[in-house]
Amino acid sequence: MRQEELEAKNKAYVWQPFTQMKEWVDNPITVIAEARGNKIIDMAGKEYYDGVSSLWVNIHGHRKAAIDQAIIDQLGKVAHSTMLGLANIPATELAEELVRLTPAGLNKVFYSDDGSTAVEVAIKMAFQYWQHKGQPKKRRFVALEQAYHGDTIGTVSVGGIDLFHRVFKPLLFEPLHAPSPSCYHCQIAAGPKNCAWECAAAMEKVLAENQEEIAAVIIEPLVQAAAGMLMSPPGYLAKVRELTNKYNVLLIADEVATGWGRTGKMFACEHEGVSPDLLVLSKGITGGYLPLAATLTTDEIYMAFLGDGADNKTFYHGHSYTGNQLACAAALANIRIFREEQVIAGLDAKIKAVSEKLSAIRGLAHVGDARQCGMIVGIELMADKKAANPYPRDKAVGAMVCMMARRYGLFIRPVGDVVVFMPPLASTVDEINQMLDIVYQAIEEFTSGRKTTPALSGGYF
Ligand SMILES: *Cc1c(COP(=O)(O)O)cnc(C)c1O
Repeated sequence: MRQEELEAKNKAYVWQPFTQMKEWVDNPITVIAEARGNKIIDMAGKEYYDGVSSLWVNIHGHRKAAIDQAIIDQLGKVAHSTMLGLANIPATELAEELVRLTPAGLNKVFYSDDGSTAVEVAIKMAFQYWQHKGQPKKRRFVALEQAYHGDTIGTVSVGGIDLFHRVFKPLLFEPLHAPSPSCYHCQIAAGPKNCAWECAAAMEKVLAENQEEIAAVIIEPLVQAAAGMLMSPPGYLAKVRELTNKYNVLLIADEVATGWGRTGKMFACEHEGVSPDLLVLSKGITGGYLPLAATLTTDEIYMAFLGDGADNKTFYHGHSYTGNQLACAAALANIRIFREEQVIAGLDAKIKAVSEKLSAIRGLAHVGDARQCGMIVGIELMADKKAANPYPRDKAVGAMVCMMARRYGLFIRPVGDVVVFMPPLASTVDEINQMLDIVYQAIEEFTSGRKTTPALSGGYF
C-alpha cells in the first residue's frame, strides 16, 4: 500500500493513544513499516534510531533472531490456551525464571497483559490480603506525587500527573500522598545542598499518622518515569522499605519502566538491596515483542489467600489472555539472551558513553538538568536555565526538539519539556554517540532559534 493511501486510512479509522487527534489528522504522519536492530523504518524507507525503545519496551533491538525463533517455535505448538482451569508450558517455565531473577522472597507469579493490569493486580492483592488478615481497615494506598502507574481507573487513582489524571478525578479512589523525591524539583529541602531527607520524613509522617488504614505504599523505584524521568536520591528506596516494615504496610514496587536492565542492574530494587512485597513487571519482559506482565509476591501474601471454597479467599482476577504462550515464549527468550550475551555486564561501557555525552548536553544554554540512571535519561529544557524557569506549555518546546531529532534520524518522545532518551540496551557505544549527537544538535538548533521544525504530527502532549 502506498504511504498516502495508508495515511488516509489511518486518519479515517484510527484513534491514536495519548494523542490530540485534531492535530494528528491536520499534519503529515510517520508510518512505520519495518524495523531492524535498533532502528525503525518508515514506509518511505527512512530509518530512525529507536531512541525510546518503542516506548520503553524494546531491549535487544528489533527482529532479534532468538526471539523471532522462539515465537515461531511456539506457534508450531499452540498460540494460546486459557489458564482458567489449565496450566501451560511456557508460562510455568517463565514463572520459575522470574522467581529466580527477582529479589529474594518473591516466590509467586501472577500473570496479566500490561503494566496497568499488573499494577491493578498488585493493588487488589494488597487490599484483599489485609481483609484476610483480619485488618479490614487497612484499605488505603500511599502514592507519590507525580506518580504514573498506568491508565486504568485503579492505576489512575494512584497516579499523580495532573495533566493526564485530573479529568477522571470523580471516578477515582483517594490515595494518601507523599512528596515526589525528585532532587532537581525539590521544594521541601532547606536548600539544594541541604538535604535532610525531608521527602522520606514526609513519607514517614503519612505512615505514622495513618498506619491503621494503610494497605500499601506504591512507588516507582529510583525513577518516576512518565513524570519526566524524575530521579530519587540514592537511599530513598531503602528508607521507604524500612518505613513500610516499621509501620506494617506493604510495599509495591512498580518496575514496569525500570525493570530489565534499564537502570544498569536487572531490577532497580537491586541497587538498594530491597525486596518489595509485590513487584510489578511488564514493558521489557518480552524484549519488547508482545504484551505480557507479571505481578510477583511473597509466600506470606500468597498463603493468606489459601482456604476452602467456603472461605471465599480466592483471588478473583484473570484475563482472557493470562499466561499467553507466545508472549511467555518471547519472555523466556528475552531472559536467555540476557544470560547468554551477558547484557547487564555489557552495560557499563554504554552507561559511561551516555554520561560523557550528557556532560556536553548539560552545557547547552537551555538545558536545566540532564539526569541519568543507567540507560534512562531525562533532559529538562528551561526558558531560563539559571532561574529554572520553564517554557510556556503551549510552546511545546520538548515536542519541537523531538521533531527536529526525527528529521535527523532519531525517534524520541518528550514528557512535557523533558526530552526522554531510553534506547534499546542493545545499542552500541557508537550508536549511542550518534543518537546523543542528534539530541545535542536538535536541542541546540531549536532552542537557539536557528532552525524550526517541520510540521509533522507527533501526537505529543
Ligand atoms: C508504562 C508504565 C505503566 C503502564 O504500563 P502499560 O503497559 O502502558 O499499561 C505502569 N507503570 C509504569 C512505571 C510505567 O512506566
